Amino acid sequence: MVNKTEIVVATNNKGKLAEIKAILSDFPIIILGLSEIGFDREIEENGQTFLENSLVKARTIASVCNRYVLADDSGLEVACLGGKPGVFSARFAGENATDEENNAKLLKEMEKIPREKRKAAFRCVMSLASPSGRWVASVGSCPGEITFKPRGNFGFGYDPIFFVPQLNKTMAEIPLEVKNKISHRARALARMKTLIEDFISYPEES
Ligand code: IMP
Repeated sequence: MVNKTEIVVATNNKGKLAEIKAILSDFPIIILGLSEIGFDREIEENGQTFLENSLVKARTIASVCNRYVLADDSGLEVACLGGKPGVFSARFAGENATDEENNAKLLKEMEKIPREKRKAAFRCVMSLASPSGRWVASVGSCPGEITFKPRGNFGFGYDPIFFVPQLNKTMAEIPLEVKNKISHRARALARMKTLIEDFISYPEES
């Protein structure tokens, strides 16, 4: 039998786990991290889309661990670059590239692009899978534009070069509590929240 009160979050990132626990805290569900169930296998993310990558993680871990699993995949899409870096966000400047290297490469590629053409969005796809292979997914976006140089010390990844017009600040100038209200992940998770109850109340054989 699958334990209906537990959902495993497919991440080793403590920040993400805490964010997901906080948003789902009013649910009668126990949220577990991968380390809490002793899962330490690496799952390759070589899909063409955020959906493929989040699904492969959720479905693989759900079937191996016989539990409900929530997984996300996210990244940055820049309009004038046809959606790049997209699923390659973490390794835009090469395998094992640092955040600074990725940011520098993006700023270089965009050095001649004027402000009005620097539109971008962070995107996140969350997938929830059951051990038998059923799944649902939700999408969240956070629109903004790419700056001409990095600004701010909060956050990670592309945050210092991602300007949020609504707040007149880069994502790296915004404290985490505020980012967690407007981020692509928070938006995808808010939508996922509306799907969870139906999903886990469905009869599951395993
Ligand atoms: P992942 O979905 O956590 O694996 O994110 C993939 C990559 O997308 C990260 O390494 C970052 O480069 C970028 N990214 C995803 N979410 C954010 C964010 O909230 N801020 C900045 N960069 C992000």
